[in-house]
Amino acid sequence: MTLARLLPRAAAAGPDRPALAVGPRVHSTFGQMAARVATIAGTLRGRFGLDPGARVALAMANGPAFLEILCACWHAGLVPVPMNAKLHPREFAYILGHSGARLCCASPGLAAAIAGESGDIPDCRLLAVAGPGEPAAEERDLLAGEPIATMEGRADDAAWLFYTSGTTGRPKGAVLSHRNLLAMTRAYTTDVDSIAADDCILHAAPMSHGSGLYAVPHLAAGALQVIPESGGFDPAEVFELVRFHAGMTFFAAPTMVKRLIEHPACADADPRNLKTVVYGGGPMYGGDIKRAMARLGNRFAQIYGQGESPMTITAFSKAEHAMTDHPRYAARLASVGRAQTGVAVRIADADDQTVPAGELGEVLVRGEPVMTGYWNNPEASARTLRGGWLHTGDLGVLDADGYLTLKDRSKDVIISGGANIYPREVEEVLQLHPGVRECAVIGRPHADWGEEVVAFVVPRHAEAAAIESLDAVCLAHLARFKRPRQYVFVAALPKNAYGKILKTELRRKAAKDRSSE
Ligand code: AMP
Repeated sequence: MTLARLLPRAAAAGPDRPALAVGPRVHSTFGQMAARVATIAGTLRGRFGLDPGARVALAMANGPAFLEILCACWHAGLVPVPMNAKLHPREFAYILGHSGARLCCASPGLAAAIAGESGDIPDCRLLAVAGPGEPAAEERDLLAGEPIATMEGRADDAAWLFYTSGTTGRPKGAVLSHRNLLAMTRAYTTDVDSIAADDCILHAAPMSHGSGLYAVPHLAAGALQVIPESGGFDPAEVFELVRFHAGMTFFAAPTMVKRLIEHPACADADPRNLKTVVYGGGPMYGGDIKRAMARLGNRFAQIYGQGESPMTITAFSKAEHAMTDHPRYAARLASVGRAQTGVAVRIADADDQTVPAGELGEVLVRGEPVMTGYWNNPEASARTLRGGWLHTGDLGVLDADGYLTLKDRSKDVIISGGANIYPREVEEVLQLHPGVRECAVIGRPHADWGEEVVAFVVPRHAEAAAIESLDAVCLAHLARFKRPRQYVFVAALPKNAYGKILKTELRRKAAKDRSSE
């Protein structure tokens, strides 16, 4: 059983039901989508001569074509390699070469840049695929073949090569099988939220990542997939679209949730059609989720996952968000919830031995959603999956009830004077200061202490956050040794294409500033 069955199944049940929409308008029904997908699959196999297992890269902005090509790959037994449209041409070239992609479907704006960097990648054909209403000449080629029947693949075949965001070093390609993504799909409806056929998912976040992964459970439910006309996240557009489409869910990084509720349109938005905002992918600060719930109500669910166990390690449901009178509510709201169905989570020490509840260690994960390994990287696969457990690189604590609280990535922990300082704890406190828009805390090498704490702060406006008042907030909430020894005010924090803060870059900057002092 593979994911290829999902679309024909939805099309058989409701051929005239809407499958894809762009903004407020329906782009295709399930019957139309299934027909196009079978034809694209036929083209990929026939005209382009791709054999089962061949990799097809997608360097595409969010759009209906992204989903059609994804489904066509499954239909034809090919392996999609979705890449974030915001990557640098050199990063595209690296992934194309590393995955051995035979075809790269690219948005027209990206095709030229990729061609410039990827000229020397053998056997990789580049195809420009435009957005709706503006078919690129070559896109018509995709529909030039004959439709084919669904390929009967195996559950353990690769369904998605997920290149990690690579906040350090080269990205690695997590091989996600059909079985992995079907396990994610079942866990979604058990642990995250229900999906009715009348519901829809809005792809406001990159479809190459979480939003695209969550296309799968919505496809399984026969729900509508809505792509914003902007192709990305625009809070005003989200509030506009929620008026047109009922039962709307979208996946959002915590920074998107913050931008959504801080947007002026939020004040008079009618959230009745908004079913669920699933957030995850990075830490959500306590103040932000409380403000979001106060404004938009009980519409939030959290997930913790990583490319290696897509969207599926733990979840904190809407019902759990609403249990405000639970004696441990505050601690639970600061957690990432409990292990999702079919997933085992344990906390281990440096020797992979399980530590008691309440103690800190690395988060290890086992279960059906966990990747089969990294593409063409047996050493990293063996290291990361040693003993049959996925080593997430995240540090966390499990409480006696099974709620997991993440502290930090192990490489981000600051060790100062022999004591561990968790940047997230300091960031959470700095966020309490009304003048702080965003902040990131890192460690900088220090001759006496090993490392010292440095905070990068994006103030709401010039003069908004004076050092003395930032220090006062830290002293009021933190042990003295944890407070930043230096504040660096910046206009923006460096982020990768997925919006994750590049702490490696901040560490480099802090070390350079010190050496030039
Ligand atoms: P990626 O593989 O790019 O999706 O990144 C996964 C990493 O993002 C995880 O290993 C965590 O460090 C972080 N992450 C994911 N979900 C959460 C969450 N709900 N809260 C805090 N950090 C998260």
